[in-house]
Amino acid sequence: MNEDLLLLIELQECDSKLVALLASKKILPEKIDKLDKDFGTFKESMEQNKKKHEELKCAHTEKEKEIKKINENIVKAKGRLLEVKNNKEYQAILKEIEVAEALCSEIETQVISLLDEMDNIFVLAKKDDDILSQRKQKYEEERKILEADINSLDMDFSKWEQKRNEIKIKINGSLLEKYEKIKNRNGGTGVVSVWKAVCNGCHMNIPPQLYNELQKTSDLLICPNCNRIIYYQNKNKEKAAV
Ligand SMILES: [Zn+2]
Repeated sequence: MNEDLLLLIELQECDSKLVALLASKKILPEKIDKLDKDFGTFKESMEQNKKKHEELKCAHTEKEKEIKKINENIVKAKGRLLEVKNNKEYQAILKEIEVAEALCSEIETQVISLLDEMDNIFVLAKKDDDILSQRKQKYEEERKILEADINSLDMDFSKWEQKRNEIKIKINGSLLEKYEKIKNRNGGTGVVSVWKAVCNGCHMNIPPQLYNELQKTSDLLICPNCNRIIYYQNKNKEKAAV
């Protein structure tokens, strides 16, 4: 085969690889973003019970503070009972104590149900925590794999880019220009194989005469349908070689 054509075929291989690698390079960071986002949402949902438990704990502390304050007031009121001068005042303080004690007992009942609720939520939060830590492990493993993929992709990309540059300098300028023009007009493919008279670029039959010529000539021929540079590839021979 024509040396120029061999170089163009190699160049095409590099270009196709680079296009595919670029597409993956775009997809992988998007996959990582999605993974992060999904895990974030899951984490949030798994932390609802924990959050609720924290809220109940705060409410409990507040209630205990209220009880303490009321009890202090009761002690003070009882002290005042010893100092009163008349019955009316005495009765008023007794009433005050009675109201405070009733309130205190009401809050104590609330505290009991709060503690019950806290116990239940705590069990649920613990379960959620276990599920979350399992999921977190899986998430971190998946993320590591994607990050490694990005690294190897970058390495692959530079490798093919370098190979492309090495081939490019060996190809004569006007031929390279022709290839680039055809490639840019044809969705990134400028050189395609032909086997059994079918062009691998447009999947159309090429005329028999052209197919015959293609198998013999060392000239660069063009597919009359898609205008790509074509070369003959004997796929039977390839199979036999494998
Ligand atoms: Zn074609």
